[in-house]
Amino acid sequence: MANREYTLVILKPDCIVKSLTGNIISRLSEARLRIVGSKVVRVSRELAEKHYAHLKEKPFFNDLFDYFSGKIYGEDYERVLVFVYEGEDAIGRVRRIAGATNPFEADPTTIRGAYGRINQKGVMENVIHSSDSPESAEKEIKNWFKPDEIVEDIYPTKKVKLDGSEARVWAE
Ligand code: UDP
Ligand code: MG
Repeated sequence: MANREYTLVILKPDCIVKSLTGNIISRLSEARLRIVGSKVVRVSRELAEKHYAHLKEKPFFNDLFDYFSGKIYGEDYERVLVFVYEGEDAIGRVRRIAGATNPFEADPTTIRGAYGRINQKGVMENVIHSSDSPESAEKEIKNWFKPDEIVEDIYPTKKVKLDGSEARVWAE
């Protein structure tokens, strides 16, 4: 494959609240990529701060966390669905289907343009996250997944001793 890429995709809590999960996965399947990892995750403050390190110091980070963790929708929705997609130009393909960050500026045929909104706190509830470069994809995938949760060897790993047994972790 000429330009094999991996990308982290997160279906954010608003996607789950709006029952859009199946719809969004169908839209993504049109990109002809392959899922190599998937799970449902409850987002801790620590994980959110790692994932959105570039926004951690922004005045709206608390409100962003309340949205991204699903807290604003109640306990039943405090979760996200996380995927690693693999394929030719995976990062660009998913970003194009997702649309611009601001749902009001996004093309109306994109996921964010069709289903996003800006909430009363000013947070852009835009349904989906996807990595924006190979470097951030690698960083993000390593933050969200352990090597053994991905069905292919995508980045180098190493073996470490954990409580007497061996575990595989990301090499760096
Ligand atoms: N965000 C927001 N207001 C802003 C910037 C970001 O609500 O002014 C939220 C929005 O949900 C966005 C996320 O923070 O998707 C991450 O921001 P980023 O600039 O990385 O945009 P993305 O990569 O998601 O398009
Ligand atoms: Mg981003």
